[in-house]
Amino acid sequence: MFRRDFLKYSAITSASLFYSPLSVRAKDISAPHIVICGAGYAGLSVAKYLKELNHNIRITLIEKNKQFVSCPFSNAYLAEVYDVTLQTLTFDYAKTMKKFGYSFINEEVININRNKKEVSTSTHTLSYDFLILCGGIEYDYNALNLSTKLCEELKQKAPAGLKPPFEHQQLKHMIETFKGGNFIISVPNGNYKCPPAPYERACMIAHYFKTHSIKGKVILLDPREKPAAKSKEFLDVFETLYKEYIDFQGLTHFKTIDFATKKVTVEHFDKDALEYKEKSIPFECANIIPPNKANGLIALASLELTSEGWAKLKEPTFQSSIDDSVYILGDAQGQYPFPKSAQMANSSALQVALEINHTLLNRPFDYRNNSLGNICYSFVSNTQAVSIAHTFTYEPHIKTTSMISPIDEGTALSAKLWYEGLTSTILG
Ligand SMILES: Cc1cc2nc3c(=O)[nH]c(=O)nc-3n(C[C@H](O)[C@H](O)[C@H](O)COP(=O)(O)OP(=O)(O)OC[C@H]3O[C@@H](n4cnc5c(N)ncnc54)[C@H](O)[C@@H]3O)c2cc1C
Repeated sequence: MFRRDFLKYSAITSASLFYSPLSVRAKDISAPHIVICGAGYAGLSVAKYLKELNHNIRITLIEKNKQFVSCPFSNAYLAEVYDVTLQTLTFDYAKTMKKFGYSFINEEVININRNKKEVSTSTHTLSYDFLILCGGIEYDYNALNLSTKLCEELKQKAPAGLKPPFEHQQLKHMIETFKGGNFIISVPNGNYKCPPAPYERACMIAHYFKTHSIKGKVILLDPREKPAAKSKEFLDVFETLYKEYIDFQGLTHFKTIDFATKKVTVEHFDKDALEYKEKSIPFECANIIPPNKANGLIALASLELTSEGWAKLKEPTFQSSIDDSVYILGDAQGQYPFPKSAQMANSSALQVALEINHTLLNRPFDYRNNSLGNICYSFVSNTQAVSIAHTFTYEPHIKTTSMISPIDEGTALSAKLWYEGLTSTILG
């Protein structure tokens, strides 16, 4: 059943994984306890796969949000395409836990004591044999070097929209009440959640403007010369489908914003003068995405971080660089060149579940024989999408190969199947 579900949503990804289920009988081990913090794509995936591989493990998943709301497909929700609504993005944790049979605590993790191997919420303290941290990303507004007051204003008036559901609802409201002018999307420096998301969002907003005859322009401010993902494909789409609606401004750094005069200040590379020059751009609405870093769970557990603020791991594993009993999955990891995607989180979760199960059985696990895969879809209109598939092999360090699909209706259909397959696999 597990294998069938997994194959259903990603032929490419599953083909790159060597799946060898090892079932454990009750007498083999004495019910180890695995605590998973964060029930997003990574946490739900690893909980499901561990339970599937080994019914005798005790699993407790801790999550602070009341419901699961998906980020994948949230850009389609903004543009009201593919029948995506807030309801279709939202899933009930209680139903999932009942179906898969692991324990769930709906509270925030507020303390992690690695010496005692304990995790605490406001009402529980749990001991663990293995701890898996799946907290995702955190916004790093401090890195913008703006006043605290302005950062607060940014959060309220120009939400980043990488965390569901309120920021997505705010963005949708901004789009629906937009009367015309510039809609600014600022892409952050460094690694961030879902590299193609801002460009997909630009396409979805432009599609909305086009179909609702709104005289608006999406201005994409990007510190890079080209989009961070699917660059050729997005630039082609901006030039063809949305020539009147999207203005991609590469080598452009967001500096500050003035909500009173409605102007954004940027530093833009002047190719004639060969230097960065300041300029201001008027706006009606803005979606300013600050730099990202690993969620606070990593610091709470006093684990090692990279200089960019992501969790350091012990290669080639997903164990923390300084503690073998702690694993870090999903967007928070910064050791490997993996895109911060739901599919990547899911693929890594399967590997970690297999590894932990091997460890419990005292069997060696070779990461090098269990390569990871990723596939990431982006909608560019109400009928078409483009995808990128990655495979990662160990030679001896991780080598990435990628393949981009055509921009077409078939890819949009595959995207829907992928989403339905993944969500039904991990949420039931
Ligand atoms: C607009 C957008 C579109 C995207 N589209 C795609 C796509 O098409 N395909 C794709 O593969 N990926 C896509 N992604 C990326 C994908 O959403 C992320 O990569 C994925 O969610 C990462 O999973 P995660 O489990 O690491 O983090 P998350 O899914 O963010 O989950 C982290 C969880 O941890 C919880 N948590 C954090 N701290 C605590 C605490 N102290 N106590 C308790 N709980 C805590 C949070 O509440 C959250 O539920 C998209 C992202 C965005 C923003």
